[in-house]
Amino acid sequence: MREIVVAKTAGFCFGVKRAVDLAREAAECSENVYCVGSIVHNKYVNRELEEKGIRFVKSLEEVPDGADVIIRAHGVTQEEIKECEKKHLRLVDTTCPNVKKIHRIVEEYSKKGYRIVIVGDKNHPEVIGISGWSVSPCEIVYQEEELSEEQTFEKICIVSQTTMNLEKNQKIIDKIMKNAKDYIVFDTVCRATEERQNELRKLAQESDYAIIIGDPASANSNRLYEISKEYCNSQFIENIDELCLNFLGTSCKILVMAGASTPASLINDVVLHLKQDE
Ligand code: SF4
Repeated sequence: MREIVVAKTAGFCFGVKRAVDLAREAAECSENVYCVGSIVHNKYVNRELEEKGIRFVKSLEEVPDGADVIIRAHGVTQEEIKECEKKHLRLVDTTCPNVKKIHRIVEEYSKKGYRIVIVGDKNHPEVIGISGWSVSPCEIVYQEEELSEEQTFEKICIVSQTTMNLEKNQKIIDKIMKNAKDYIVFDTVCRATEERQNELRKLAQESDYAIIIGDPASANSNRLYEISKEYCNSQFIENIDELCLNFLGTSCKILVMAGASTPASLINDVVLHLKQDE
């Protein structure tokens, strides 16, 4: 008999839910709503919003003057906000409040003369957005190995990408602090991320197998998969079509977890399938 456990924290976090709700509302009120890039890292969410009339474009230049523009949950740079104002765009700002808080810290401390150090992935839109609120260039670190023992830091302010793996984040911060003369650290890893990762650690230890549902472009979903693999055999899938259970025995405990941008419908599809397969 297979036991199926669905993690309580699987699926939309409050920031993603807020962003999607604001975008849906905007689509209901106007036929002229644009979004530059993905609103969240999940193509099913973006597709649903497209069907409601939101136009997804690659750059701000493609948005006509005076239109409504959605600022994605990951946030954007200060430069992009100014660009929107120049074009007289009406902002539908879905930036997660947790990310907004980092923007404010980075702006304030860079103005006070601190060099900003961001622990995160330099190619991720959230990190690109955060760095764009500093008045001077930022240092971005993603791996402990990127820091040499000889590298020293003067006056720095450390913030982290909201979806950083907590252990990895702490190790990097510890290493930076060892070689820093004057530093201030802000704990900016999102608590929704922390709760999800903690629940996953606990449940994965008790499971034979874990299924992580998320978009391959979703940083937090990929982190969940990284963590899950440490405790039990795991599979990362985008949707039900990728689910492969042939090799699983009939008697095992299966954990279902999903990233913060994974809609409930995708989770339900998988759970339903697993139950039918019991
Ligand atoms: S994971 Fe946290 S920071 Fe990111 S959107 Fe969700 S609530 Fe906001």
